[in-house]
Amino acid sequence: MPSAASDVPADTGLPLGDTFHVFDTTLRDGAQREGISYSVTDKLAVAALLDELGVGFIEGGWPGALPKDTEFFARAAAGELPLRTAQLVAFGSTRRAGLAVQDDPQVKALLDSQAPVVTLVAKSDVRHVERALRTTLEENLAMVADTVRYLTDNGRRVFIDCEHFFDGFAADADYGLRVGEAAVAAGADVVVLCDTNGGQLPGPLSDTVAEVLRRGGFRVGIHCQDDTGCAVANSIAAVQAGATHVQCTANGYGERAGNADLFAVLGNLITKLELPVLPPGRLADLTRVSHAIAELANIAPNTHQAYVGSSAFSHKAGLHASAIKVDPDLYNHLDPDAVGNDMHILITEMAGRASVELKAKELGLDLSQRPEVVQTVVDTVKNREAQGFSYEAADASFELLIRSALAGADAAEPERLPFRLESYRVIVESPKNGKAVAGPSSSEVTSEATVKIWVGNTRVVATGEGNGPVHALDSALRLALEPQFPPLRSVELTDYKVRILAGHAGTDSITRVLVTSTDGERDWTTVGVHANVVEASWQALVDSVVYAVQSADQPASASDQQMQPTE
Ligand SMILES: [Zn+2]
Repeated sequence: MPSAASDVPADTGLPLGDTFHVFDTTLRDGAQREGISYSVTDKLAVAALLDELGVGFIEGGWPGALPKDTEFFARAAAGELPLRTAQLVAFGSTRRAGLAVQDDPQVKALLDSQAPVVTLVAKSDVRHVERALRTTLEENLAMVADTVRYLTDNGRRVFIDCEHFFDGFAADADYGLRVGEAAVAAGADVVVLCDTNGGQLPGPLSDTVAEVLRRGGFRVGIHCQDDTGCAVANSIAAVQAGATHVQCTANGYGERAGNADLFAVLGNLITKLELPVLPPGRLADLTRVSHAIAELANIAPNTHQAYVGSSAFSHKAGLHASAIKVDPDLYNHLDPDAVGNDMHILITEMAGRASVELKAKELGLDLSQRPEVVQTVVDTVKNREAQGFSYEAADASFELLIRSALAGADAAEPERLPFRLESYRVIVESPKNGKAVAGPSSSEVTSEATVKIWVGNTRVVATGEGNGPVHALDSALRLALEPQFPPLRSVELTDYKVRILAGHAGTDSITRVLVTSTDGERDWTTVGVHANVVEASWQALVDSVVYAVQSADQPASASDQQMQPTE
């Protein structure tokens, strides 16, 4: 069973403990942004990043309503998402009108998710109760109270999201307060005031928050959409008015104009209001986590985003660099190091020497006495980023890069590439009658790939088929290698992302491909970049296979040695 209500883990490292909540809803509200489609593996990776950053709560989705979200919670509960700081939150709705709470399958799915915390969305605007929900004001209050009590009785901590609270409060303030009071009387901990249509401005919103705190006598949270461009300002204003729970999404992702950007809100709360809402030292992860989540969402990072954009601290060309050197404080509102950013453009957090050492340590490699290896990795990452590579999500490619730098610098480290490529070829064939059916599942267009490789002194030629060129290449490569490398049999491609990077300085545009693979136990992501999408995909596939082979080697005992090819 999950931990009991109000059972905040003792070792979260949050300086303010439970007295202030940073609540992230990137995976629920933020996932409603057009164009975002996370796989379950993506969702687990996003949640892990948010936990590394140190948010208190991660709303993972709506179990029962969306199959992917149900699977996300199941995999998290099965141990795939070990959390250090955050608690996982399931989102759902109050019971249906006229239905007993224990008979509502949607409410049951919230319990089944095993999330220790539940956020319930409730109507608090009389017009929405009567016109959208089409029930009575009293029944709506009973729906709130019944659902909260049922969940708290079952050991869950409950927050209540009051939808369209601000417009509702303007229309009938008493009813808005009654909804909050009903929830709290039934055991809810926080009443979250939602600016659902995003129409608020900071002044009036702040007045409402203060009035609710004065009259309601319950803990207040804030959830802002960005339709007036004020979501961050509104969130900060609410906190200054007394809200102690703030809901945000990474990079402000969300439907329409989006939500309050988690990174701007954290930057403001910590560096401007001096509220230590993250565990010590984590603010320096802000930029890295922002960019890594952008990669997983497959959205180009906003270079001009507050605090975390690559240009957020770079100054226009007319400003002499030496002037900034004299005293950067004269030009920057904040030391960019504080949020893991930099005054320059192409240097990412990943390329820093300390990060390379840290990542190597995670892999069990001590590079503290190997500055030349660290320098090689830093230089390679910088060069490759200039070409369009990105390692922020491609952890496996980054690991291979470290290993190959080690192999190059250390003669004792054997050459570990498991094969050499002679050539590959891909054919895409339309149907014989020349008529393909339009639409995403036009399976009549088939692809066939042939790869010619050398494993040791053996030449292997293999042909594979697939519903697309990448799938066909993957099949052929696997067919060629599986007899020599049996662990590849359990490896599967689970995700494939393509991004076209605009050309600059007269160059053509290039394609970046991210491939995610799994062996059923672990997932890893690799990257390829080329003007040609097939070549970019090939690079990512090769990294994936090499990673699978090498990491299967790692724990191998002497008796497994005959599995290895000899050069
Ligand atoms: Zn929202």
